[in-house]
Amino acid sequence: MGKVVVGGDAPISVQSMTNTDTRDIVATTEQITQLADAGADIVRVSCPDKEAALSVAQLVENSPVPLIADIHFDHKLALIALDGGIHCLRINPGNIGAKERVAEVVRAASARKVPIRIGVNAGSLDKDLLAKYGEPCADAMVESGLKHIRILEDLNYNEIKISLKASSVAMTVEAYRKLAKMVDYPLHLGITEAGGTLPGSVKSAIGLGLLLSEGIGDTLRVSLSADPIEEVRVGFEILKTLGLRTRGVNIISCPTCSRQEFAVIDVVAKLEKRLSHIRESVNLSIIGCIVNGPGEAKECHVGLVGGGGENLLYIDGKPYEKVADNNLVSRLVDEVEIAAKKIREQQEIENSAKND
Ligand code: SF4
Repeated sequence: MGKVVVGGDAPISVQSMTNTDTRDIVATTEQITQLADAGADIVRVSCPDKEAALSVAQLVENSPVPLIADIHFDHKLALIALDGGIHCLRINPGNIGAKERVAEVVRAASARKVPIRIGVNAGSLDKDLLAKYGEPCADAMVESGLKHIRILEDLNYNEIKISLKASSVAMTVEAYRKLAKMVDYPLHLGITEAGGTLPGSVKSAIGLGLLLSEGIGDTLRVSLSADPIEEVRVGFEILKTLGLRTRGVNIISCPTCSRQEFAVIDVVAKLEKRLSHIRESVNLSIIGCIVNGPGEAKECHVGLVGGGGENLLYIDGKPYEKVADNNLVSRLVDEVEIAAKKIREQQEIENSAKND
């Protein structure tokens, strides 16, 4: 998909979706750039009408990451988005009417080597499937996915990704597990309509975590009723937790108790903000006292152990210097930036050695 490989051994990519008016090119470009800065590998924009589809050309030109056009029902919008250079379509071939319309979209996508994501959603299953199964369920979702796949395969098209999303974690997991045994296409994972940041993150972490830990899934979107930047952050946290991707500072911090020797929660909150620009994978431990502090600090690039106004800073696992409470955040930011620079330089050396 553009410069991003999805499927096979490629890293699991993180997606999000803009919630600006797609016709507003300035606002949408700005949000796409913010999402890319936060780590989104791919961004989706919805194209509900012709003007939105026509905006795609400019959005693609402005975007630092590949874009997906989200289209329902109207195949002409897909053709406009393809003309505009879109990198992927999210469209369900069974929902765009006559066979010739589907064939027209597939021909245009095929000519441009643009993949299509089939996006099955438990909330919008076909009436015949609901009649057959009585209610939305994993089997109905799988059958719907297979039906859309067959339409594309009959047109000799197989640049396909599939998602089977439900707001029920159990139903989603069951559907993906079943489909993963039946087809070899890349799977786009997500729990749909998962709610606000806290419940949505928990649902997504459990659902996507179960699937990813079984080797199921190639790309993901965490759906939250929140700023889409949060979706990217949560997506990366899921992948980082599973050891599937690394990005940014990994803060290991204690939950605090009456033994804490400095305001751990406050310091961590400030550090999260001040370090959000770091892309390199730096491990940072922020621990309130000596109970667990030295042990964690020994395993991190940078560590801090609370110590009654004289907190101990660790660098590369070794005690380095004492830091007063009022200087903690800026001192830690400096050291994390130095650690990130070292990692970056090391990566550059490794990359140039590979290219030689
Ligand atoms: S590390 Fe120390 S301050 Fe933090 S929770 Fe444990 S005992 Fe409490």
